[in-house]
Amino acid sequence: MGVLSVLDFFYEISGLHLNSSKCEIFSVGCSPRSVDLFQLISGFKKGCLPVRYLGIPLVTRKLTEKDCVVLIEKIKQRLHHWSARNLSYAVRLELIRSVLFSVSNYWCIQLILPHYILAKVDQLCSKFFWKGDDKPTKGARVSWDFICFSKAEGGLGLKNTKIWNKACSIDLIRKILAGHGLLWVAWLKTYVFKDQDFWNFIAGSNVSWSINRLLKLRLTDLSIFSSSSSLGLRDIWDAIRIKREKVSWHNLIWFPMHIPKFSLIAWMSLLNILPTRDRLLKIGISTDGTCVNCRDEQESRNHIFCQCTLAVRLWSSVLSLNGMKNASSIWEEMVNRASSTWKGKSLLTTILKLSWTTYIYTLWEERNQRIFKDRHRSTNELLNVIIEAVRIQLKGKNINRADRINSNLCNAWDIT
Ligand SMILES: [Zn+2]
Repeated sequence: MGVLSVLDFFYEISGLHLNSSKCEIFSVGCSPRSVDLFQLISGFKKGCLPVRYLGIPLVTRKLTEKDCVVLIEKIKQRLHHWSARNLSYAVRLELIRSVLFSVSNYWCIQLILPHYILAKVDQLCSKFFWKGDDKPTKGARVSWDFICFSKAEGGLGLKNTKIWNKACSIDLIRKILAGHGLLWVAWLKTYVFKDQDFWNFIAGSNVSWSINRLLKLRLTDLSIFSSSSSLGLRDIWDAIRIKREKVSWHNLIWFPMHIPKFSLIAWMSLLNILPTRDRLLKIGISTDGTCVNCRDEQESRNHIFCQCTLAVRLWSSVLSLNGMKNASSIWEEMVNRASSTWKGKSLLTTILKLSWTTYIYTLWEERNQRIFKDRHRSTNELLNVIIEAVRIQLKGKNINRADRINSNLCNAWDIT
């Protein structure tokens, strides 16, 4: 009964009344009878360890797989819920972005997660991206690490959770070093490091797993700890993430007016990971390598987008709307020419990029419809699909029509 009056006293001085439906009791050294009695009087539930705060286990030891079951199950549930729908790659990518965002913002900021849990999260996301569910991603077309490269580097700019978790730990160390006003930082200083300096602190055997993980980070590049204090988490992450050289073509597909669904298929074609029939033939999935858009030659990336009669006719028609001629006969030439000449923010550049990504998507869609649905569209119908997509995307946009080139383009593409 003594404990209950303490709680009443706490209420009197703080005004905080404990909500019995949200409170749990954890007992040590009490007889089961007294615990039952206390439970009866207080209305609290019996809790089991570890204590969780908003779903997150409060422990300083290494989190076990069991501790993280909630996290993994939550992600699985969400992905499973989405897998029932037939979603485009672009939608899947955005959903993954939101999953990873919540993991990195909710779990990583508060905890140091073991690597195998982070790997599990990545694996679930990767399966969902390529397959739309959690079936194995046999033959995943590019690695998850590659997808986590920035868009300028050829990836899709997803956050690598492992690196993000490390960035969060470095941020925490910076807070400790700066004597940040967090209660936890004050606790660490008083009870763990005591009078010792963080850099020279020698951990005893009683130091927890998470503190040890923090101490290991002392080996990281020191400049990140000493650089300006205004460095945000994102800057830290960017400073420690693995980078690769920029690709020349990223501006062709990622530009302010891009249509994600189309840009993503163009991205796959640029990396040559679309399952074209020449590739399927090579790995023995298909026995027929003929292009269904012309029924003439073997389907490859170069053929389907550059040399196929349907492609040549379609792309020439698109360019002629801009008063231009089709000059590229092979894929590499087409991409190099576009990367080096479609520059700046002019209306012409935007239309070229929009129509090119739509062209790639539309040809690929046509190929799939012919194979899987036995549905055929004519060159003119495909051209109209491209015109319509560009027209809708640019409709009502602020365009300087006093410029003659712009006004001609608006007429040709029927932009209002
Ligand atoms: Zn063809």
